[in-house]
Amino acid sequence: MSSLPPLKQLIDRFGRSVDYLRISITDRCDFRCLYCMAEDMTFLPRAQVLTLEEIHSLAQAFVELGVKKIRITGGEPLVRKGALQLLENLGRLPGLKELVMTTNGSQLGTLAPTLKAAGVKRLNISLDTLDADKFKAITRTGNLQQVLTGIAAARQAGFERIKINAVILKNRNHEEVADLVRFAVDNQLDISFIEEMPLGEVDQHNRSEAYYPSDLIKADLERTFTLLPSTETTGGPSKYFCVAGTLSKVGFISPHSHNFCSTCNRVRLTVEGRLLLCLGNEHSVDLKRVIRAHPGNHEVLKKTIVDAMRIKPEKHEFNIHEQPVIFRHMNMTGG
Ligand code: SAM
Ligand code: SF4
Repeated sequence: MSSLPPLKQLIDRFGRSVDYLRISITDRCDFRCLYCMAEDMTFLPRAQVLTLEEIHSLAQAFVELGVKKIRITGGEPLVRKGALQLLENLGRLPGLKELVMTTNGSQLGTLAPTLKAAGVKRLNISLDTLDADKFKAITRTGNLQQVLTGIAAARQAGFERIKINAVILKNRNHEEVADLVRFAVDNQLDISFIEEMPLGEVDQHNRSEAYYPSDLIKADLERTFTLLPSTETTGGPSKYFCVAGTLSKVGFISPHSHNFCSTCNRVRLTVEGRLLLCLGNEHSVDLKRVIRAHPGNHEVLKKTIVDAMRIKPEKHEFNIHEQPVIFRHMNMTGG
């Protein structure tokens, strides 16, 4: 009897090929952004969290299954002890084409050059406002100047591309979208505007009232800038436009107003080792259990990952106007 060919690719039941993995390496964070976390959060005990070795091993299994791009996220990835060593080890995985990170920027003032040296190619840095008081109000604990210093350090370190991520909330920061684009243009950065997603209970604002659709942001921007459609894709859900006469691009991530699920190419690994098949559904597979029950056995792990593709849902179930049906917060999910 001939043996089965080695498993080399992840394809779901809708024919979508999965080659992008996001890994949340911690649920902890130095900020408490009001759309991401409740003010008073309980974080996971250490035994429930994947070790750095387990994260590396899981990432390796995914790369052996055809994953080409890994984004490290959190929580705030740079607050996890050992994060830089992990990145360096991930950067050396044969077959991995891109190692990228999403960060709130608070640690970049000191860590940007080390991150670059560790092999991180591109950075997404979150920045919702340029007003220090509003920044404090949105992040609850953050300091705008520290993040601006971090962005400057990242530019200096020479990453291939730096993109600002801004979650836009009506009556909090929606009037600042043109200023944020001007900041991106002046600093030769790209910027994506994100519609808030209803992940987990938040206690300080009403998500339905704060909803500010991408089309309104675009219309606001077109009063100041000329936006030219771009064919560029970074393998993500952002729809991009070039800002005429500049080096910057503006992206829109619009889970509510423009569903992007048909081209979904990604899965997420939470810091608890749950493989999430969709940001907006609870479908998941416990990979921590597998890796701890079969230490060092990559074939069992890889088979579990391949089988998990069967439960990847067709689309997310977000409804900004209803109570959240997804109980995990974004810091658990890994945005
Ligand atoms: N701490 C890092 C940061 O803030 O960039 C990485 C993790 S954070 C969860 C990743 C991204 O998710 C950030 O750009 C953040 O603004 C975004 N985010 C968090 N909660 C969100 C929500 N409820 N809806 C939409 N985006 C959200
Ligand atoms: Fe922390 Fe990022 Fe969530 Fe803000 S969005 S609380 S910075 S994990």
